[in-house]
Amino acid sequence: MSAAETQTNGAPGTVPADTAPGARGKALVVLSGGLDSTVLLAKLLDAGRECHALSVHYGQRHFRELDAARAVCTHYGVPHQIADLRALLPLWGANSLTTPAQAVPDGHYTDASMKATVVPGRNLVLLSVATAAALAAGCATLAYGAHGGDHAIYPDCRPEFADALAAAIALADWKPLVLERPFIHLDKAGIVRLGSKLGVPFGLTWSCYKGGDLHCGRCATCTERREAFRLAGVPDPTCYAD
Ligand SMILES: [Zn+2]
Repeated sequence: MSAAETQTNGAPGTVPADTAPGARGKALVVLSGGLDSTVLLAKLLDAGRECHALSVHYGQRHFRELDAARAVCTHYGVPHQIADLRALLPLWGANSLTTPAQAVPDGHYTDASMKATVVPGRNLVLLSVATAAALAAGCATLAYGAHGGDHAIYPDCRPEFADALAAAIALADWKPLVLERPFIHLDKAGIVRLGSKLGVPFGLTWSCYKGGDLHCGRCATCTERREAFRLAGVPDPTCYAD
Protein backbone atom coordinates (compact mmCIF):
# COMPACT_ATOMS: atom_id res chain seq x y z
CA MET A 1 0.00 0.00 0.00
CA SER A 2 1.48 3.35 -1.02
CA ALA A 3 1.52 6.45 1.14
CA ALA A 4 -1.33 7.77 -0.98
CA GLU A 5 -3.48 4.86 0.00
CA THR A 6 -2.62 4.78 3.67
CA GLN A 7 -5.79 4.44 5.68
CA THR A 8 -6.30 4.88 9.36
CA ASN A 9 -9.32 3.84 11.29
CA GLY A 10 -11.19 6.92 12.52
CA ALA A 11 -13.82 7.14 15.19
CA PRO A 12 -16.90 4.88 15.01
CA GLY A 13 -19.16 5.95 12.17
CA THR A 14 -16.34 7.46 10.13
CA VAL A 15 -14.93 4.31 8.60
CA PRO A 16 -12.51 4.24 5.66
CA ALA A 17 -14.20 3.78 2.31
CA ASP A 18 -12.85 0.44 1.24
CA THR A 19 -12.53 -1.47 4.49
CA ALA A 20 -15.82 -0.97 6.25
CA PRO A 21 -18.31 -3.84 6.13
CA GLY A 22 -21.17 -1.35 6.18
CA ALA A 23 -19.66 0.81 3.47
CA ARG A 24 -20.41 -1.37 0.48
CA GLY A 25 -23.81 -0.03 -0.50
CA LYS A 26 -24.72 2.84 -2.74
CA ALA A 27 -22.82 6.00 -1.89
CA LEU A 28 -23.80 9.63 -2.22
CA VAL A 29 -20.63 11.60 -2.93
CA VAL A 30 -20.53 15.30 -2.10
CA LEU A 31 -18.86 16.60 -5.26
CA SER A 32 -17.58 20.16 -5.39
CA GLY A 33 -15.89 19.75 -8.75
CA GLY A 34 -12.46 20.17 -7.15
CA LEU A 35 -9.58 17.72 -6.85
CA ASP A 36 -10.45 16.04 -3.56
CA SER A 37 -14.05 15.14 -4.22
CA THR A 38 -13.30 14.06 -7.79
CA VAL A 39 -10.58 11.67 -6.60
CA LEU A 40 -12.98 10.45 -3.92
CA LEU A 41 -15.59 9.65 -6.56
CA ALA A 42 -12.97 7.87 -8.67
CA LYS A 43 -11.81 5.86 -5.66
CA LEU A 44 -15.29 4.64 -4.82
CA LEU A 45 -16.08 3.80 -8.46
CA ASP A 46 -12.77 1.96 -8.70
CA ALA A 47 -13.83 -0.12 -5.69
CA GLY A 48 -16.96 -1.13 -7.61
CA ARG A 49 -19.28 1.09 -5.63
CA GLU A 50 -22.49 2.51 -7.08
CA CYS A 51 -22.30 6.28 -6.73
CA HIS A 52 -24.54 9.28 -7.01
CA ALA A 53 -23.11 12.77 -6.78
CA LEU A 54 -24.51 15.87 -5.12
CA SER A 55 -23.14 19.36 -5.60
CA VAL A 56 -24.31 22.33 -3.62
CA HIS A 57 -24.80 25.85 -4.85
CA TYR A 58 -24.42 27.73 -1.60
CA GLY A 59 -24.01 31.11 -3.25
CA GLN A 60 -20.37 30.83 -4.24
CA ARG A 61 -19.28 33.73 -6.41
CA HIS A 62 -18.84 31.72 -9.60
CA PHE A 63 -20.24 28.64 -11.33
CA ARG A 64 -16.95 27.15 -12.50
CA GLU A 65 -16.81 24.44 -9.88
CA LEU A 66 -20.42 23.39 -10.53
CA ASP A 67 -19.64 23.19 -14.26
CA ALA A 68 -16.59 21.10 -13.35
CA ALA A 69 -18.71 18.80 -11.19
CA ARG A 70 -21.10 18.32 -14.11
CA ALA A 71 -18.23 17.50 -16.46
CA VAL A 72 -16.76 15.00 -14.00
CA CYS A 73 -20.11 13.22 -13.64
CA THR A 74 -20.55 13.10 -17.40
CA HIS A 75 -17.06 11.62 -17.70
CA TYR A 76 -17.86 8.86 -15.21
CA GLY A 77 -21.52 8.41 -16.17
CA VAL A 78 -22.64 9.14 -12.63
CA PRO A 79 -26.07 10.63 -11.78
CA HIS A 80 -25.62 14.21 -10.55
CA GLN A 81 -27.86 16.56 -8.65
CA ILE A 82 -27.26 20.16 -7.66
CA ALA A 83 -28.89 21.44 -4.47
CA ASP A 84 -29.64 25.12 -4.93
CA LEU A 85 -29.20 26.79 -1.54
CA ARG A 86 -28.75 30.32 -2.83
CA ALA A 87 -31.75 31.48 -0.83
CA LEU A 88 -29.56 31.00 2.26
CA LEU A 89 -26.98 33.51 1.02
CA PRO A 90 -28.06 36.34 3.37
CA LEU A 91 -27.40 34.03 6.31
CA TRP A 92 -23.74 33.36 5.49
CA GLY A 93 -22.41 36.79 6.48
CA ALA A 94 -19.51 38.55 4.76
CA ASN A 95 -16.77 36.31 3.41
CA SER A 96 -14.84 36.30 0.20
CA LEU A 97 -16.34 33.08 -1.15
CA THR A 98 -19.90 34.32 -1.28
CA THR A 99 -19.48 38.11 -1.22
CA PRO A 100 -18.33 39.42 -4.62
CA ALA A 101 -17.38 42.81 -3.14
CA GLN A 102 -14.87 41.15 -0.84
CA ALA A 103 -11.63 40.28 -2.63
CA VAL A 104 -10.27 36.74 -2.52
CA PRO A 105 -6.87 37.02 -0.84
CA ASP A 106 -3.78 35.62 -2.54
CA GLY A 107 -1.28 33.42 -0.78
CA HIS A 108 -1.01 30.14 0.99
CA TYR A 109 -3.68 28.63 3.21
CA THR A 110 -1.57 29.18 6.28
CA ASP A 111 -1.80 32.97 5.94
CA ALA A 112 -4.05 34.55 8.53
CA SER A 113 -5.76 36.49 5.74
CA MET A 114 -7.20 33.24 4.41
CA LYS A 115 -9.63 33.28 7.31
CA ALA A 116 -11.63 35.63 5.09
CA THR A 117 -12.62 32.59 3.05
CA VAL A 118 -14.32 30.82 5.94
CA VAL A 119 -18.06 30.41 5.41
CA PRO A 120 -19.25 29.80 8.97
CA GLY A 121 -20.93 26.44 9.49
CA ARG A 122 -20.86 25.62 5.79
CA ASN A 123 -20.05 21.93 6.17
CA LEU A 124 -22.74 21.44 8.77
CA VAL A 125 -25.32 22.78 6.33
CA LEU A 126 -23.92 20.98 3.29
CA LEU A 127 -23.64 17.61 5.00
CA SER A 128 -27.10 17.97 6.53
CA VAL A 129 -28.58 18.56 3.09
CA ALA A 130 -26.49 15.71 1.70
CA THR A 131 -27.72 13.43 4.48
CA ALA A 132 -31.31 14.10 3.48
CA ALA A 133 -30.49 13.46 -0.19
CA ALA A 134 -28.59 10.26 0.64
CA LEU A 135 -31.45 8.88 2.70
CA ALA A 136 -33.97 9.79 0.00
CA ALA A 137 -31.84 8.04 -2.63
CA GLY A 138 -31.54 4.89 -0.53
CA CYS A 139 -27.79 5.25 -0.03
CA ALA A 140 -25.95 3.32 2.68
CA THR A 141 -23.13 5.82 2.91
CA LEU A 142 -22.43 9.51 2.50
CA ALA A 143 -18.91 10.30 1.34
CA TYR A 144 -17.02 13.57 1.34
CA GLY A 145 -13.46 14.52 0.62
CA ALA A 146 -12.26 16.47 3.67
CA HIS A 147 -8.51 15.96 3.92
CA GLY A 148 -5.76 16.36 6.46
CA GLY A 149 -4.65 19.77 5.24
CA ASP A 150 -8.03 21.44 5.71
CA HIS A 151 -8.07 21.60 9.48
CA ALA A 152 -5.86 24.61 10.15
CA ILE A 153 -8.23 27.21 8.76
CA TYR A 154 -11.63 25.58 8.51
CA PRO A 155 -13.05 24.57 11.90
CA ASP A 156 -15.74 22.39 10.34
CA CYS A 157 -13.08 20.31 8.56
CA ARG A 158 -11.65 19.07 11.87
CA PRO A 159 -11.85 15.32 12.49
CA GLU A 160 -13.65 16.05 15.77
CA PHE A 161 -16.41 17.85 13.88
CA ALA A 162 -16.86 14.97 11.44
CA ASP A 163 -16.83 12.45 14.29
CA ALA A 164 -19.65 14.29 16.04
CA LEU A 165 -21.61 14.73 12.83
CA ALA A 166 -21.14 11.08 11.89
CA ALA A 167 -22.74 10.06 15.16
CA ALA A 168 -25.76 12.25 14.40
CA ILE A 169 -26.01 11.12 10.78
CA ALA A 170 -25.98 7.49 11.89
CA LEU A 171 -29.11 8.27 13.92
CA ALA A 172 -30.92 10.32 11.27
CA ASP A 173 -32.91 7.33 10.06
CA TRP A 174 -33.77 3.88 11.42
CA LYS A 175 -31.30 2.44 8.96
CA PRO A 176 -27.86 3.86 9.83
CA LEU A 177 -26.16 6.05 7.26
CA VAL A 178 -22.35 5.84 7.37
CA LEU A 179 -20.26 8.97 6.91
CA GLU A 180 -17.18 8.08 4.86
CA ARG A 181 -14.20 10.43 4.72
CA PRO A 182 -11.31 8.31 3.59
CA PHE A 183 -8.97 11.26 2.98
CA ILE A 184 -9.11 12.72 6.48
CA HIS A 185 -5.53 11.64 7.18
CA LEU A 186 -4.19 12.23 3.67
CA ASP A 187 -2.62 15.43 2.44
CA LYS A 188 -3.40 17.01 -0.91
CA ALA A 189 -0.30 15.58 -2.60
CA GLY A 190 -1.37 12.10 -1.50
CA ILE A 191 -4.80 12.70 -3.02
CA VAL A 192 -3.22 13.79 -6.32
CA ARG A 193 -0.98 10.71 -6.30
CA LEU A 194 -3.98 8.46 -5.73
CA GLY A 195 -5.96 10.29 -8.43
CA SER A 196 -3.12 9.82 -10.88
CA LYS A 197 -3.09 6.09 -10.22
CA LEU A 198 -6.85 6.00 -10.80
CA GLY A 199 -6.61 7.96 -14.05
CA VAL A 200 -8.63 10.90 -12.77
CA PRO A 201 -9.25 13.53 -15.48
CA PHE A 202 -7.65 16.35 -13.44
CA GLY A 203 -8.14 18.79 -16.29
CA LEU A 204 -11.90 18.67 -15.76
CA THR A 205 -11.65 19.75 -12.12
CA TRP A 206 -11.76 23.31 -10.86
CA SER A 207 -10.16 24.72 -7.71
CA CYS A 208 -9.78 28.50 -8.07
CA TYR A 209 -11.87 30.63 -5.73
CA LYS A 210 -11.94 33.50 -8.20
CA GLY A 211 -13.68 31.88 -11.17
CA GLY A 212 -12.73 33.31 -14.55
CA ASP A 213 -11.62 31.47 -17.68
CA LEU A 214 -8.39 30.14 -16.18
CA HIS A 215 -7.22 29.26 -12.68
CA CYS A 216 -5.73 32.50 -11.30
CA GLY A 217 -2.64 30.75 -9.97
CA ARG A 218 -2.43 33.06 -6.93
CA CYS A 219 -5.30 32.38 -4.54
CA ALA A 220 -5.05 29.80 -1.76
CA THR A 221 -6.63 26.92 -3.62
CA CYS A 222 -4.54 27.58 -6.73
CA THR A 223 -1.41 27.75 -4.56
CA GLU A 224 -2.35 24.51 -2.86
CA ARG A 225 -3.31 22.82 -6.13
CA ARG A 226 0.01 23.69 -7.78
CA GLU A 227 1.97 22.59 -4.76
CA ALA A 228 0.08 19.28 -4.51
CA PHE A 229 0.94 18.31 -8.10
CA ARG A 230 4.56 19.35 -7.58
CA LEU A 231 4.93 17.40 -4.33
CA ALA A 232 3.16 14.38 -5.82
CA GLY A 233 5.44 14.40 -8.85
CA VAL A 234 2.38 14.32 -11.12
CA PRO A 235 2.15 16.54 -14.25
CA ASP A 236 -0.29 19.40 -13.62
CA PRO A 237 -2.65 19.83 -16.59
CA THR A 238 -4.03 23.09 -15.21
CA CYS A 239 -3.66 26.32 -17.22
CA TYR A 240 -2.89 29.09 -14.72
CA ALA A 241 -3.30 32.77 -15.60
CA ASP A 242 -0.30 33.73 -13.49
ZN1 LIG B 1 -7.05 30.93 -7.96
